[in-house]
Amino acid sequence: MSEDNINNKEESKPSISFIEQFVAEDLEGGKNSGNVITRFPPEPNGYLHIGHAKAICLDFGLAKKYNGKCNLRFDDTNPVKEDVEYVDSIKEDIHWLGFDWEEREFYASDYFGKLYDFAAELIKRGLAYVDDQPAELISSQKGTPTQPGTESPFRNRQADENLDLFRRMNKGEFDEGSRVLRARVDMTSPNMHLRDPIIYRIIKSPHHRTGSSWKVYPMYDFAHGQSDYFEGITHSLCTLEFEVHRPLYDWFIDQLKTDDYRPRQIEFNRLNLTYTMMSKRKLLELVQEGIVKGWDDPRMPTLCGLRRRGYTPESIKKFIDLIGYTKVEAINDVSLLEHAIREDLNIKAPRVFGVLNPLKVIISNYPEGKEEDVELINNPEDETMGKRLVPFSRVVYIEQDDFMEIPPNKFFRLAPGMEVRLKGAYIIKCEGFKKDEATGVIEEVYCTYDKETRSGGSGSERKVKGTLHWVSAKHSVDAEVRLYDRLFNHEDPSGQKEDDYRKFLNPESLKVLTGCKLEPSLKSAGKLEKFQFQRLGYFCVDTDSTDRKLVFNRTVQLKDTWAKVNK
Ligand code: ATP
Ligand code: MG
Repeated sequence: MSEDNINNKEESKPSISFIEQFVAEDLEGGKNSGNVITRFPPEPNGYLHIGHAKAICLDFGLAKKYNGKCNLRFDDTNPVKEDVEYVDSIKEDIHWLGFDWEEREFYASDYFGKLYDFAAELIKRGLAYVDDQPAELISSQKGTPTQPGTESPFRNRQADENLDLFRRMNKGEFDEGSRVLRARVDMTSPNMHLRDPIIYRIIKSPHHRTGSSWKVYPMYDFAHGQSDYFEGITHSLCTLEFEVHRPLYDWFIDQLKTDDYRPRQIEFNRLNLTYTMMSKRKLLELVQEGIVKGWDDPRMPTLCGLRRRGYTPESIKKFIDLIGYTKVEAINDVSLLEHAIREDLNIKAPRVFGVLNPLKVIISNYPEGKEEDVELINNPEDETMGKRLVPFSRVVYIEQDDFMEIPPNKFFRLAPGMEVRLKGAYIIKCEGFKKDEATGVIEEVYCTYDKETRSGGSGSERKVKGTLHWVSAKHSVDAEVRLYDRLFNHEDPSGQKEDDYRKFLNPESLKVLTGCKLEPSLKSAGKLEKFQFQRLGYFCVDTDSTDRKLVFNRTVQLKDTWAKVNK
């Protein structure tokens, strides 16, 4: 996808979405007795991703705004791919985002009986028939958008025979794939979806809710609109690819409806994100092939992955609000999502010291055995978050790249003869260092401190150009820190013709650092607790973390350094 299609501008969002305008019009026109009832209809065949969050925010958000209701409806019409594991995770993720469906948890499978009866009714009215041809033949008879389709030789079979065959299909008398039920609509329609679509197929795998009661299962197009109708849905919001299905949606409702009420389908653009992909099938492949470590791998665009990475529901909602709802397909820049989490954590996350690549600094004129606590502000954006005491002593760790033996111009960190401030503590001056001559690795740095310069003390006004974060060696806690980068190094990895997305995997999407040194207050941090490691970024405690082994994830760096490097 070209740069032009990357939707990264806040101003691209209209003040009120076109969908809301439709809803407001319907309300003004007195439709549906002033009710707004929406639904979120996930298929339980995978974990929810951030694209689903866009639909969830709309379905639940709109209902809330107009004092309506939003149902949760599992679209569980394909037992081969569906599982309760997915049902449970979907519920957890919707709740995490902050939405609730109260007692309105529905399943398309709740309506299998009603749907079956409706199909039988269509057969009786001559509007559906059993086709004995294999699926490939049926699809080859569909024609093209400019050429009409060819009628099946079974199209004019008598209702009684159709009804009998349909019943026997459901009893399990026929093999999978040997027969289907088709709606009898119009083989010459310019809309291919109206050319006698398949509405039921034989599946003999057991269903996670209905067991082996059913041997025929409705297709999405047959189940979805009718379920909307059964539930009294007023606005059925879905993504743009269903626009071409709408005439069929309406056709079924026309056959079903008994009064003025009908659900209204409205389509909006999908959320796509750069450097990742949204197809559940492909995300499942990443999990099954072990390319990532599970659905909640922090590199995944799934809601559980983002949660584990340190994203907050508020940041996701903010991002979705920024990109808005339109009728134009686009690919959204992931840096806008990163911007949203930075803004949120800037306000919420306490500042702490963590050293990822430690280098030992020995302050030779600081008394051995002496310790003192320095006071640091937890969050300059929020006074109510208070202050904390951080222990300081003779040996501290700083980042390896905060020291250079031969610094370039404008290197305002530590180098021989140079001074820096250790944030919240003293100004130190580099007097020497120890280097492993064989490897060139700097092993220790020797400094002196100016004891008048303690922050808040008499000489604290003295200015130096650089300020470093640090951790007292003897008080530090060890941690493993996982740094994440884009999972793919192509902006649109699954949209490349003929190319397999696996070709675009970023081999450096995960970097594990061990032996990181953190300030002692982090020892008691709880799972998923979020912090700003000063000068480094936002981090959260991983779910793998234990009392014996602390594990942190980097959520995002402080600035969008990635864009600069790669563009
Ligand atoms: P599948 O390919 O399995 O059909 P799906 O992503 O459409 O995948 P569903 O479980 O059917 O998955 O989706 C539930 C709802 O979420 C649907 O209404 C769908 O339109 C919406 N949705 C799915 N993906 C996105 C996306 N990327 N952006 C916005 N809405 C989405
Ligand atoms: Mg779908």
